[in-house]
Amino acid sequence: MLLSENLTQAKEGQRISAKGYAIQTKDSNFESFSFTRHALGDYDVLIEIYYAGICHSDIHSARSEWHKGIYPMVPGHEIAGKVVAIGKKVSKFQIGDNAGVGCMVNSCGECESCKKSQEQFCENGKMVLTYDCKDCFHNNEPTYGGYSNNIVVSEKFAIKVPQNAPLEKVAPLLCAGITTYSPLKFSQVKKGDKVGVAGFGGLGMMAVKYAIKMGAEVSIFARNKKKEKEALAMGAKALYDSTSDIQERFNLIISTIPTAYNPMEYVNLLKYGGELAIVGLPPTNESVKTDMTRLIFNAGKKVYGSMIGGIKETQEMLDFSLQHQIYPEIEIIRANEIDKAYTNLTNGKAKFRYVIDMNTLES
Ligand code: NDP
Ligand code: ZN
Repeated sequence: MLLSENLTQAKEGQRISAKGYAIQTKDSNFESFSFTRHALGDYDVLIEIYYAGICHSDIHSARSEWHKGIYPMVPGHEIAGKVVAIGKKVSKFQIGDNAGVGCMVNSCGECESCKKSQEQFCENGKMVLTYDCKDCFHNNEPTYGGYSNNIVVSEKFAIKVPQNAPLEKVAPLLCAGITTYSPLKFSQVKKGDKVGVAGFGGLGMMAVKYAIKMGAEVSIFARNKKKEKEALAMGAKALYDSTSDIQERFNLIISTIPTAYNPMEYVNLLKYGGELAIVGLPPTNESVKTDMTRLIFNAGKKVYGSMIGGIKETQEMLDFSLQHQIYPEIEIIRANEIDKAYTNLTNGKAKFRYVIDMNTLES
């Protein structure tokens, strides 16, 4: 019923009504929420959302752990669904196509970074995040994410998903997938390399799977042995629950840790010329100081940050994942179970990725 209303709105250039789950303050619980999205522009697509993954960034954002969030907030940047309406000038999609949306919904398109499809580094500061962001292309209205029944997005920022793909497993690829695929490519991981993955949750699991597919020997650093069986089943060589007394040295370590820790623990474990890619983003009040002396005594190694990936690389990651059947381990939940999922993810009770089934939104 709501879909037919949306189709009429899209056709008549009206704002698109939407419903989802929002959090009202950093300390509250999720509640159902009705809102509207901007009208379908000539180059926009309207996507009916089937599944949305829960990324730990959603928790950091909802709890204002990085900066003060924009409330009410509808998080969600791991979105998979179906295109149900297209703007007049859309050429990339047809109605009925599957599509995905990740962390960004727009950027200037004109600067050097955007032209290189590294939209996440838009030099004009016009990269629009999928939620918790002011949309400079639409009167600075707040963006609302994927914990909802639909989204309107510029076709350039929607990822093509084949018709036969399992959408519930595609959703987490749009953030967890690209955020780990990108540094593995940036560091040019090759057969025989030793790769370490610190933090074995939603992102960590994807890093492990991609690195193994790229021919690396992969070890995992976790804070306990709870998921050792799963690690070995994925093809990892070992799961360590401590960084001390480890003899082997690594070409690349990707840290996905979402809490405070000392990065030097991992720099210590790199080979000469080795790289530490940091993607985990602990709350700002937990940020650590770098010990310069230890860094000097660890010379000849590189530490870099990595932020999601551009749209072109996201499409490449999706095609690579589907071609090699690399999918996340997921647990599907109902829309009214988001609070419980957040609690589990912060208390070490979650396994890998929770994915919300949007069919369970109450009407
Ligand atoms: P999850 O909660 O799914 O996974 C985090 C994992 O890290 C859990 O398995 C947790 O273990 C483990 N962990 C926590 N503390 C430590 C520690 N001190 N040592 C080792 N392991 C630890 O989170 P996500 O994978 O979804 O996200 C991870 C981080 O990446 C977040 O900070 C998120 O914001 C960030 N991120 C960054 C992006 C970027 O572009 N750079 C994009 C997307 C996410 P346990 O189960 O025991 O709690
Ligand atoms: Zn994310």
